[in-house]
Amino acid sequence: MGEIRGCVIGAGYFARNHLHAWKDLEGVTIAGVCDLDSRRAEAGADIVGGRAFGDAAAMLDALKPDFVDIVTTHETHRALVELAVDAGCHVICQKPLALDRDDATAMVDVCGRAGVHFMVHENFRYQAPMQAARRMIDNGRIGRPNYARIQHRHHHDIFSAQPYLRTEPQLAIMDVGVHMLDLARFFMGEVHDLYARTRRVQRELAGEDSVVISLGHDDEAATLVDISFATWMQPDPFPQTLLRIAGDEGTIEIGEGFHMRVSNSRGGENFDVSPKSPAWVRSGDGLIEQSVVVIQQHWLDCLRRDVDPATSGADNLKVLDLAWRAYEEAAA
Ligand code: NAD
Repeated sequence: MGEIRGCVIGAGYFARNHLHAWKDLEGVTIAGVCDLDSRRAEAGADIVGGRAFGDAAAMLDALKPDFVDIVTTHETHRALVELAVDAGCHVICQKPLALDRDDATAMVDVCGRAGVHFMVHENFRYQAPMQAARRMIDNGRIGRPNYARIQHRHHHDIFSAQPYLRTEPQLAIMDVGVHMLDLARFFMGEVHDLYARTRRVQRELAGEDSVVISLGHDDEAATLVDISFATWMQPDPFPQTLLRIAGDEGTIEIGEGFHMRVSNSRGGENFDVSPKSPAWVRSGDGLIEQSVVVIQQHWLDCLRRDVDPATSGADNLKVLDLAWRAYEEAAA
């Protein structure tokens, strides 16, 4: 494959990261950016030097890209994935892929039948600290992991940039919980049992903002996923996910400020696992933004090698299955 041509659908809050990341990457051109809001489409197209569109079908018809990157909210995903597949494109779709099992399965099936690659933009496992922890496990530094605690607690105002989250009836699990459940599988493997408890601490929200999920893995290892959007702390760790993974020979801990400690019976070692912040980051440490660059690079590598991405649609169905089970368990 030579230069890969893509189009982006959705040019809202998070698309800025996708667009800058595409611009930074070698061997890819974003030919068009589409948004129902023409000002957003134009601002997005300016970032990548592509054409702005208000209608996705017209864009795909005019530009015939190799792939489509869908950065809209979940209720629009199925129709846009189907549109992209009809146009013969490989597809990336933001998370959560869908709230509904039939919609998510239909998207995976339509891509499978058409023989196109399909990736869910599940970027948390590509964050610098998560990749560093995975490397420590792979290098045998803690032996076989038997326990993980994956924690995402904060009181950061996520609602100003993403006002739609205030009215989501399924909030914390579908918003950040899917990332945490993906991390649980990334570090600890597949899950066979699950227990969950949800709570709505901030009564003005429509959905749950506090969640504890206990996961049992195939080899009797356990993971505790711990999420809260309503935990006051100074300093507030947002957007960092904090981690502790214990193995039979040692423990990895990732604390605030991108501090990783790997210790065992003989002592410990400290590592700085800070992200390399891209130049276009407006504020903060670049943790999320760098992970967007890395997952998009992974996508380009997969297209060139004609292999499925690690966070393929089929893989993401396993994450969503855990999310749906968590809601069922919590309700029961
Ligand atoms: P947003 O509402 O700011 O932007 C979505 C844009 O899509 C809007 O501008 C809207 O006009 C446009 N749109 C909707 N339907 C369209 C259509 N048919 N054709 C063209 N444009 C259309 O939303 P956002 O906050 O940018 O979130 C987008 C997605 O990104 C969500 O699924 C969200 O969960 C996800 N997200 C992921 C991360 C992450 O770290 N992976 C972080 C934040 C948001």
